[in-house]
Amino acid sequence: MTEPQKSRGIIGFTTTVPVELIFAAGYEPCDLNNIFVGDPQPGRFVDRAERDGFPKSMCNWIKGIYGVVMEKQVEAVITVMEGDCSNTQALAEILRYRGVRTIPFSFPYDRDREVLSREIEKLKKELGAEEGALAEVETRIAAARSRLSEIDTMTWSERNVTGGENHLWLVGASDMLGDIKKYADGADEFISRARTRESMEGIPLGYIGVPPIIEGLYDFIEGVGGHVIYNETQRQFALPCEAADIVERYLLYTYPYGIFARLEDINKEIGLRGIKGIIHYVQAFCFRAIEDVILRETIDVPILTIEGDMPKTLDSRTKMRIEAFIEMLEGGPC
Ligand code: SF4
Repeated sequence: MTEPQKSRGIIGFTTTVPVELIFAAGYEPCDLNNIFVGDPQPGRFVDRAERDGFPKSMCNWIKGIYGVVMEKQVEAVITVMEGDCSNTQALAEILRYRGVRTIPFSFPYDRDREVLSREIEKLKKELGAEEGALAEVETRIAAARSRLSEIDTMTWSERNVTGGENHLWLVGASDMLGDIKKYADGADEFISRARTRESMEGIPLGYIGVPPIIEGLYDFIEGVGGHVIYNETQRQFALPCEAADIVERYLLYTYPYGIFARLEDINKEIGLRGIKGIIHYVQAFCFRAIEDVILRETIDVPILTIEGDMPKTLDSRTKMRIEAFIEMLEGGPC
């Protein structure tokens, strides 16, 4: 089976969407978040947004996405209007105002199968994805996702994958870096390499919340005796659950359906993986910080909440708090 011959262009998106449809329509998918934080100078995208009038007191992920779209040549941006970020509506409006084609997509908050099915059909038509091409993409992407699932399992069962590697492989699954085969082959090669390593011994930790905007978090955690063996949202981006069809696959995906859908998954993985403590990352000015209240009252292992703002290295205060948290866990009952 082969990739589509010639790409029709790049389709950007603001959070995980049914990426199968983009590939099947012959476009190259691009998760704008990954372009933002993967850039050697991500702060310039935030600066661009602020120069264009975005307020200082606003989440820098949104500003970064805007800055990326202003620089990158995209055919269109799929904006997730429900099931992601409370700022996306205004982002979609400013992008349209700037002449960017935007395609709205929504995950129904109540996880209604019929509504999601309609949304997927609508997106399929809008992109021009054919049924035959979609079936072929689904086969190829399932094989790639099974390798990512193996990397994730190795992280907690064999303990030979670092938290940072787990994060990078799973977060990249949202667009497979534009090439399913290359991503799957890279994952295969990584699996073989990781299997030659010794097991890591740090305190097993979980990371929950949106992916971090800050750099060096995982390396620091490992340097002070922890090992992140579960990245909640990133794992969800890799669609870890087996499903009968595309609609079911995106119904089992927890991230868009609120804190209670997420909690079920988090608590299950804490038990399965033997996680001793949770690091909850919240982004400055993000509405999701409110969810910390519920998480603290419903998760049975200790939680450390940390906050990031700009795409830059971990600050000293957060480092001290992480170190103290891991020391506290080391001193606790095993
Ligand atoms: S961190 Fe929160 S406010 Fe920022 S883009 Fe993500 S969901 Fe939106």
